[in-house]
Amino acid sequence: MKGKLIIFSAPSGAGKTTIVHHLLNKIPKLEFSVSACSRLMRKDETHGVDYYFISVDDFKKKIENEEFVEWEEVYKDNFYGTLKTEIERIWKKGHHIIFDMDVVGGLNLKKQYGDQALAIFVMPPSIQHLEERLKMRETETTETIARRIGKAEVELQTADQFDKIILNDSLEHAFAEAEKIVSEFLQ
Ligand code: 5GP
Repeated sequence: MKGKLIIFSAPSGAGKTTIVHHLLNKIPKLEFSVSACSRLMRKDETHGVDYYFISVDDFKKKIENEEFVEWEEVYKDNFYGTLKTEIERIWKKGHHIIFDMDVVGGLNLKKQYGDQALAIFVMPPSIQHLEERLKMRETETTETIARRIGKAEVELQTADQFDKIILNDSLEHAFAEAEKIVSEFLQ
């Protein structure tokens, strides 16, 4: 079996992580690509499950050693990236990979893997909606919310470069749409 890549991208707070978790429960052949990142761990997160949390210095060493298939400084000193070893690990098990990443990383991966990858953009109903969701996260400060909203406005303009767009106006609708699109691609 040739391993495939399912890439979910969206502005922060659009609900892509919730959709990705739903698909992981529904489709056993999918496995989540755990990214490396240099930001602090949130209290509901686990090392090796949500991310491999590493220091900025370690991250920079791995960049130098060309250990990433893609990486990005998403916010100042907050590096995120996909390790080549992570992709190999999942494909070796005969699983397809599902990614949760920002739009630049998502489009970068799509470009590298072409038809082997399906790039999906999760569209929030509105910027106000995003802001409300971010405010509900206890870990976000006024400053990080403003930063994420500023980035979201730019990210929304990249939606039409993706293979598919899912409007997350209701989770029920988004789940059903995601299941349909991904199952078809994996057939
Ligand atoms: P958060 O801090 O909210 O977990 O993530 C911030 C942003 O970084 C999100 O849009 C998330 O999807 C993205 N991200 C997570 N992993 C990666 C990765 O491996 N590469 C890139 N380019 N972005 C990622």
